[in-house]
Amino acid sequence: MSAIVSPAPTGVEIIGELQKKVSASRLNLFLQCRLKFFFRYVAGLKKPKTAALHVGGTVHSVLKSWNKARWKNQPLTLKDLHDEYSKAWADAGDEPVQWEPGEEDTEKGTGWRLVETYIRESNITANSKPEAVEVPVETDLHHHGLPTLIGVLDLVQAGKIIDYKTSGQTPNAEKVAHTTEVQTSIYAVLYRDATGKRENGIELHHLVKLKNPKLVITALEPMSEQQQTRLFHLMEAYVDGLERRDFIPSPGLQCMSCEFFNECRLWS
Ligand code: SF4
Repeated sequence: MSAIVSPAPTGVEIIGELQKKVSASRLNLFLQCRLKFFFRYVAGLKKPKTAALHVGGTVHSVLKSWNKARWKNQPLTLKDLHDEYSKAWADAGDEPVQWEPGEEDTEKGTGWRLVETYIRESNITANSKPEAVEVPVETDLHHHGLPTLIGVLDLVQAGKIIDYKTSGQTPNAEKVAHTTEVQTSIYAVLYRDATGKRENGIELHHLVKLKNPKLVITALEPMSEQQQTRLFHLMEAYVDGLERRDFIPSPGLQCMSCEFFNECRLWS
């Protein structure tokens, strides 16, 4: 007996789903370059994971374990964390990294030093209990004529929304507040809808990959009304753009690191 295989969704169906639900990564990518958004989310083109993404993902996964253990009042030792790190590093999922010779050991050491730096410098003690860890949340905004917002909150502690980032450069507080505003505003909307409370603030915890790694914490005020209005306008532009199938390229500095560069050169 042959298995019944569901047909792959058509472009129209995929775009329909993208119009119903939007996340920070979808909206940010659409705003950065609509053709890149098309390649990733509509055409579903897969590319090998970069070393930087693998390091960031592994560090993120270990900090998630650390926070979950605090939430359960079963804090992890540094040795437990190192074991978690080794496991997470080996699990590249279905997108393995194409390492250059010798590169993997160096990057693995860099990632572990970032975890050690965070545990040492974050001032979050092992026995302090967070309010939420890696919680998937969604908010229906159809009464504003907008799609459902979806996202995952990394950590909520003392009423503050905390988001982890890894970076190769020390972030500038004012610029990073601007460049992450879509994401932080989305988190604030999600948090307020889920809890019925306004957040006490938002913190970006950047782990910077220097020879001597460091943690830079950028503390932001709660989302303002103006920021929420800006976010809703950007969401409107997203919905309209998808409706019009507006997937034109946005050539610029971001193309230097675009994984779809070759496909883009063929676009007409
Ligand atoms: S190369 Fe540049 S313009 Fe082309 S898809 Fe990538 S980011 Fe967009």
